[in-house]
Amino acid sequence: MKLKIMQIGEPVLRQQARPLSREQILSPSVQQLIEHMRETMLDAPGVGLAAPQVDQPLQLAVIEDRAEVLATLPEQQLAERERRPVPFQVIINPRLQIIATKAGEAEQRLFFEGCLSAIGLTALVPRAAIVRVECLNHRAEPAVIDASGWHARILQHEIDHLNGTLYVDKMLSRSLMSSDNYARYWASCSVNEVCAALTLTPPSSYSPGDR
Ligand code: ZN
Repeated sequence: MKLKIMQIGEPVLRQQARPLSREQILSPSVQQLIEHMRETMLDAPGVGLAAPQVDQPLQLAVIEDRAEVLATLPEQQLAERERRPVPFQVIINPRLQIIATKAGEAEQRLFFEGCLSAIGLTALVPRAAIVRVECLNHRAEPAVIDASGWHARILQHEIDHLNGTLYVDKMLSRSLMSSDNYARYWASCSVNEVCAALTLTPPSSYSPGDR
């Protein structure tokens, strides 16, 4: 079943979501919610969906970045975003840890990002390049997810949703634009070119070699 996706301004998107107990996770209602969220994400289409986006203030999100979709995107775009297929995964009661490099610095990546709860908009959002997430899976078993690149970005975006945070809270606000105008004017530019044109300063730990 396709669920209605809440849009910015709905109070549920700004609430702290409730953790789920093992019993709740295994209950028919939450198992059904997971299945409906999967169908809703696939239909949208999106690569992640958090329960508050379907009006459920629960610490639950689904993620999937499908190989079939990636096959339709330019090779170079996938490489620079470090975007690789992610099999369907359910994260419940997640704890996010930013992983620093050997030099002790938490590297960041800067790319345009959008949200199914802010349809028609996109903006540059800095995100940590490498993260570790400890959570429960759909069977209420403990799981550890080590992720980098685009997968790390998706995890950070979805976990933000569970804490009532949206990408607009973290974006470089001068880069906010309609998706149509992004496609019209900016899609073919590197991130460095966009920053220069918009007189934006990328975050300090953002490596200049990144596009
Ligand atoms: Zn979102």
